[in-house]
Amino acid sequence: MPDTPIALELTDIHKSYGSLEVLKGVSLKAKDGDVISILGSSGSGKSTLLRCINLLEQPVKGRVIIGGEELKLKTGKSGELEAENRKQLEDMRSRIGFVFQNFNLWPHKTILGNIIEAPMNVLKQSRAQAVERAEGLLKKVGLYEKKDAYPGNLSGGQQQRVAIARALAMDPQVLLFDEPTSALDPELVNEVLSVMRELAEEGRTMLIVTHEMRFARDVSSQVVFLHQGQIEEIGTPEQVFDNPKSQRVRDFMSSHN
Ligand code: ADP
Ligand code: MG
Repeated sequence: MPDTPIALELTDIHKSYGSLEVLKGVSLKAKDGDVISILGSSGSGKSTLLRCINLLEQPVKGRVIIGGEELKLKTGKSGELEAENRKQLEDMRSRIGFVFQNFNLWPHKTILGNIIEAPMNVLKQSRAQAVERAEGLLKKVGLYEKKDAYPGNLSGGQQQRVAIARALAMDPQVLLFDEPTSALDPELVNEVLSVMRELAEEGRTMLIVTHEMRFARDVSSQVVFLHQGQIEEIGTPEQVFDNPKSQRVRDFMSSHN
């Protein structure tokens, strides 16, 4: 649909660590409701790309636009770009949800405590408001009865579902997932993927770095293959999985099946 709003736009993103150029000009557009899977070998820059979107890292060149608002960047003392304005950076960051490979829950907070923290501190919700919303989200991911438990008492799959609920509590415009099932025992992968599948069906805008090929093929509106910091191929799942133009993508697909 041509008039669907653009949730996220990246233009010519470059990122280096010292002399190592990790992203070499990545451009990408996600419309509202898009699910974009990002594939590629280890070291191709997938995590760095997500970190630039969530502004954990600031690109050395390029533009990041979230919900039509562009992050204003200026050249800092080191010659690298930095945000012009801390407030804008924090505001834009709060509109991006991030789910990490290793869950990153706060171990000394209860499950409920993990979820209400950012809505109270960043969105200035009252405790009662934040708790009500958190309980609803815990029901959604099937973990309401664990609300007073601590992360250490949950399985990896349960912890990751809590991490997803925590991201949703901020009602983000875009959700980013960096290999959300890679740290899980195989029997726990599906409970996380099925929550993600449900979010996709609800029309959440998501970018997902994953090695779960069947899942990526099923849920994605676009598939991106990253190689050495550049987009090697981009297209629908049918194009990229069944009919890749690039030999490199073809080789990757046959070794991941
Ligand atoms: P992927 O997620 O695709 O495996 P990454 O984005 O993690 O790839 O890493 C891409 C490259 O950038 C790798 O060569 C990695 O070693 C390097 N890299 C990532 N983060 C840093 C960092 N903070 N400092 C230096 N090099 C980094
Ligand atoms: Mg990575």
